Amino acid sequence: MLRFFLADLHIHTCLSPCAELEMLPELIIGRAQALGLQLIAITDHNSAENVAAVANAARGTGVTVLAGMEVQTREEVHMLVLFDTLEQVASWQEQVYASLPPLRNDEAVFGEQLLLNADGEPAGYLDRLLVTSIALSVEEVVQGVNALNGLCIPAHVDRPVYSIISNLGFIPPELDVVGVEISHNVGPLQARERFPQLKHYGLLGSSDAHRLHDMGGRTTLKMAEATVAELSLALAGRDSREVWVDGISSAPLSPLPGGRGAGGEG
Ligand SMILES: [Zn+2]
Ligand SMILES: [Zn+2]
Repeated sequence: MLRFFLADLHIHTCLSPCAELEMLPELIIGRAQALGLQLIAITDHNSAENVAAVANAARGTGVTVLAGMEVQTREEVHMLVLFDTLEQVASWQEQVYASLPPLRNDEAVFGEQLLLNADGEPAGYLDRLLVTSIALSVEEVVQGVNALNGLCIPAHVDRPVYSIISNLGFIPPELDVVGVEISHNVGPLQARERFPQLKHYGLLGSSDAHRLHDMGGRTTLKMAEATVAELSLALAGRDSREVWVDGISSAPLSPLPGGRGAGGEG
């Protein structure tokens, strides 16, 4: 049976140096409940160390937490990567840490990177610099995440910096992604007007919240359960799954010539 999920799939915690200290597990889940969200994703910059704390805080609340990360690729492109389990995201994090330059975070410049243990208690500050590019390319990130049965979603594609369109000029048609995220600066119709290529992709509208107040519920998904596989079907508009952003149907309008996208091979 298909159900509706109100979702915000791009939320930072206090581990992201640019996020407010209030981005703590119980407060994030409380805000999600107040907004009526059933599905969120925790996506800190190049790290997933605080995901377990938020997942634990969500137990019994009816809010599902996808285990995610916002990766910054070699090309300075931000990509959301989403997984169902902590084990999957931990495997991915190993690859990311192995390709992060060994630099120390300068708290005075970038801010503090507060680590939480699984119970949500402060467990020190992460020393290594997270807000920088890893050595993997966009293509390598997509391949690596797909190999772990995760889902890659180019982030805030309409933004003039750190986006796949601004940095590469376009979304490489052969790139194995079904959906992209638009920022709060545009609606789905406006985004497809500005970037006609987006008609080939399902759209997600997420908050990219660095403060509790910024969290939101722009995206509605119709799917069987709150999993990455179902999310992928919804973004492709397949098998009666659907996605809306700001109440506007945002599944792909036409398949890519290569065959992916609406009605394609997946
Ligand atoms: Zn970003
Ligand atoms: Zn972000």
